[in-house]
Amino acid sequence: MKYEISITKTTEPKAKPADESKLGFGKVFTDHMFLMEYNTEKGWHDARIVPFDYLPIHPASTVLHYGAEIFEGMKAYRTQNGDISLFRPMENIRRLNNSADRLCLPKIDEEGCLDILKTIVALEKDWVPHEEGTSLYIRPFMFGNDPHLGVHAVHNATFVVICSPVGAYYPEGLAPTKIAIESEDVRAVRGGTGYAKCGGNYAASLRAGQKAEDRGYTQVLWLDGVERKYIEEVGSMNVMFKINGTIVTPALTGSVLPGITRKSCVEMLRSWGYPVEERLLSVDELIAAAADGTLEEAWGTGTAAVVSPIGHLSYDNKEYTVSDDKIGSLTQKLYDALTGIQWGKVEDTYHWCEFVCKG
Ligand SMILES: *Cc1c(COP(=O)(O)O)cnc(C)c1O
Repeated sequence: MKYEISITKTTEPKAKPADESKLGFGKVFTDHMFLMEYNTEKGWHDARIVPFDYLPIHPASTVLHYGAEIFEGMKAYRTQNGDISLFRPMENIRRLNNSADRLCLPKIDEEGCLDILKTIVALEKDWVPHEEGTSLYIRPFMFGNDPHLGVHAVHNATFVVICSPVGAYYPEGLAPTKIAIESEDVRAVRGGTGYAKCGGNYAASLRAGQKAEDRGYTQVLWLDGVERKYIEEVGSMNVMFKINGTIVTPALTGSVLPGITRKSCVEMLRSWGYPVEERLLSVDELIAAAADGTLEEAWGTGTAAVVSPIGHLSYDNKEYTVSDDKIGSLTQKLYDALTGIQWGKVEDTYHWCEFVCKG
């Protein structure tokens, strides 16, 4: 079911960023945004693309007080042959609806949502940057928007899609990161919202992230919220380890975000013949492997960085180097294979890319 989308084009188009090497992440926004509203009487209605602008919001709006917000993160790529394409967008749409279910927000029709994404990306196609490694980051998000302070499931919601041209995550090529294993704060617990992509999970993670940054680390590696014993994920990425030839990644137990990059890496690794174990991995097992050298490689996976090598781990005031603080060969191979498909450099044998329009 498609939503009927009205389009109001801006009369004041902005200048496109002149230097694509300085785009960074999420700082520049395109000319338009998508909006639609939901209420229990009308369902989703008033689907529209309008000039990018501030959102008017009632001071009692649910999202401002009780954090009823979910989001997605995906990218549109300008491929080698000049097409604009999306990477596995249906996976994002299904996850958005799973997040909506957890936070009592309304679901969106899957085909209708795909049509929304393709319509705004096609309208903004000139904003998809050209340089290698760049892309148009797409941020769909939804929030509860009831204009009163009572605490209950929402009757009014707003769905918005904004787009931001983003630079290469690693302008100088893949670089190993320093990761701090966090043993005080936790991000999520089973039964909570860990598997949902919601703003609240990030609010709870900021303190540990800041602490790690102050100590010179890039991101935090979270342990489970009950025993602080099992590895969960890294900041905004899932995490994988190559231990003695086997790839181990934390199982999706409910407190880990089910990443689409994670899923794609697992599928590729298995097709290449690597043993992949999705299971509980204790921090003790990981640290023992780091200490005795059987931890061969470690990397994070997520839409923003795609694959991010880990060169350094800290735990309990001790430091461990992984892969000599260099990019492991399997990490590099995964990065090349995945970005190769996304940028249309290698054949998409998995049928992961979704054509949007000619560039
Ligand atoms: C979005 C996200 C990921 C990565 O998911 P992808 O679909 O691969 O981008 C991992 N962890 C958290 C907490 C996230 O929010």
